[in-house]
Amino acid sequence: MYVIEPPQQASVAVSGREDRFPVRRIFCVGRNYAAHAREMGNDPDREPPFFFTKPADAVVDTGVSVPYPPDTSDMHHEIELVIAIGKPARAISVDDAMSVVWGAGVGIDLTRRDLQAVAKKMGRPWDFSKGFDNSAPIAPLVPIADVPSLSKGRIYLEVNGEIRQDADLAELIWPVADTIAYLSASIALAPGDLIMTGTPAGVAAVSAGDVMTGGIDGLGTIRTEIGQPLA
Ligand code: MN
Repeated sequence: MYVIEPPQQASVAVSGREDRFPVRRIFCVGRNYAAHAREMGNDPDREPPFFFTKPADAVVDTGVSVPYPPDTSDMHHEIELVIAIGKPARAISVDDAMSVVWGAGVGIDLTRRDLQAVAKKMGRPWDFSKGFDNSAPIAPLVPIADVPSLSKGRIYLEVNGEIRQDADLAELIWPVADTIAYLSASIALAPGDLIMTGTPAGVAAVSAGDVMTGGIDGLGTIRTEIGQPLA
């Protein structure tokens, strides 16, 4: 029994099914494509991956409009491969890592870039630049048996029909299995966890009224419109 009504379970749609995937936590990889690391002013040499998180209830289904958030005038899109964890994993090896993957999908890591720039400069946490309301639009997940590949395939994002990000999963600095193994050495992964695996080059600002469409070969597409700010 609880003293207030417990929060609703956050969840993501599943491709071709009505049942949904319950979300426990969202881990995100920073700088996982060399060209994006360079565009953000960093050295893309293969330093260890680092992670930040978003709250589980930041997820938004494809087709749902996201209100332009407060506290920013520079919100960026980051198209990303999303991995859904279906089994517990603690200190799992690279060789065994794929056995805990339930499925995969297409997501957008919305980022208040101006807040992130201040956080970086001041040595402060990234939370409010990355973990704000509705900051994780995610398309229906594809069960792993139906995923053609997580190691290659085009990943792209268009804004109002104009291409902004266009790369290939083969460019991931830390492939999916390596990322899971590395993360599980520090945090015990659990069913319901999502991992957003980082974005390729081409990140840029979006405004109210813009429509983002993106996709990954074999994993479907996502469409997210930016709405007016909440009153
Ligand atoms: Mn990202």
